[in-house]
Amino acid sequence: MQTKPAKKKKINLISLGCSKNLVDSEALMGQLQLNNFDISFEGQSEGSDAVVINTCGFINDAKQESIDTILNHIEAKQRGEIGQVYVMGCLSERYIRELQTEIPDVDQYFGVNDIQKIVEELGGDYRYELIGERKITTPSHYAYLKISEGCDRRCTFCAIPGIRGKHKSKPKDEVLAEARRLVARGVKEIMLIAQDLTYYGIDLYKKNMFADLLQSLSEIQGLKWIRLHYAYPAGFPMEILPIISENPKVCNYIDMPIQHINNRILSLMQRGHSREGTLKLLHDIRLAIPNVTLRTTLIVGFPGETDEEFRELLQFVKDFKFDRVGVFSYSHEEGTTAFRLQDNVPESIKQQRLEEIMEAQQEISLKLNQSRVGEVYNVIIDRRENDYYIGRTEADSPEVDNEVLIDSPASDIQIGGFYPVHIYKADYFDLYGHISQL
Ligand code: SF4
Repeated sequence: MQTKPAKKKKINLISLGCSKNLVDSEALMGQLQLNNFDISFEGQSEGSDAVVINTCGFINDAKQESIDTILNHIEAKQRGEIGQVYVMGCLSERYIRELQTEIPDVDQYFGVNDIQKIVEELGGDYRYELIGERKITTPSHYAYLKISEGCDRRCTFCAIPGIRGKHKSKPKDEVLAEARRLVARGVKEIMLIAQDLTYYGIDLYKKNMFADLLQSLSEIQGLKWIRLHYAYPAGFPMEILPIISENPKVCNYIDMPIQHINNRILSLMQRGHSREGTLKLLHDIRLAIPNVTLRTTLIVGFPGETDEEFRELLQFVKDFKFDRVGVFSYSHEEGTTAFRLQDNVPESIKQQRLEEIMEAQQEISLKLNQSRVGEVYNVIIDRRENDYYIGRTEADSPEVDNEVLIDSPASDIQIGGFYPVHIYKADYFDLYGHISQL
């Protein structure tokens, strides 16, 4: 007698927060997919047997978004639209007891290193041989590659070391194997990510191995672009600069959060780098890689930040002219060292300072973009959107930086392909171009 195959368990995964969290979500989906579950990523939750929410617990806004997402799914569960609700990631790692008390209707809470437990809770078998296997959620031509977990720094505003633990480098051969698997699946661009990218190897090999890793990654056939995110200014491995400037596969792109430039604030943040040291490093980077794209992240409104100290930061942004800047307003996080300080900069002032930096950066970005008009750039095509192909130059990381809008009638443009694009127009955060006939 023909037995009807059992209906596949339908699971929807929602991934909040940063690209490092996304990689964890992809690893979980890789396991679930090979356990024959019907997986959707950020799809329709209604009708799902289970929903897994990978949360962010970094700062207030992100925490609120995670809590709202959980509550929305609990309501859907109570309406009988979905089966079970599971929560994983940084918020539950950090607040599991509070969450169990305040939102008891979640079927189970998991931390940041519980993929095996989640697979087994959902009724699957954890496949050890698949470690590093991921179900990629980004467009198939680019992917994030996490090279380590946790952080040994002690920035006083940051809750991450308390959530993700001490710095743990992924063994080099595992990183290379994961990169090769991604490339074998069509990935051409890899964003290297970590809490502290440029600290790679110090725990595992007792020396900085980031340059060595970068060189080995660049030898992978088929990999075209390697991009660096979350470099750290203190102890920056200068030996990577010639690799970046000379190796065509390593993008002339460095994302390095510096957070502030005033010495008193930097020391209160325990960043381990000074105004003078930061300026020298940034200068040396530009000297070694003249057309480098520098992205940074800044925090305004740290406890006690005076208007004068903020003006110093604003003037620095105007003078140094980063290519890309992200700004956060200080979030008073319990469990961090800065939580002992008084959060005495009013929210309205924090917001005002954040907007002043972004306004200044907008003007800088426009001028930098206008200087690119008339140039031809190698552009990777991410998607088609209405009349345009949308792509990025080497200076643009996905989802956070500028895009190039290409109006080309040609229908044979390949998504994930590289094309020479002649820039004819620029605005604040985007460029406009035509495919250029070589
Ligand atoms: S480097 Fe500082 S800000 Fe970044 S994760 Fe580590 S402690 Fe947090």
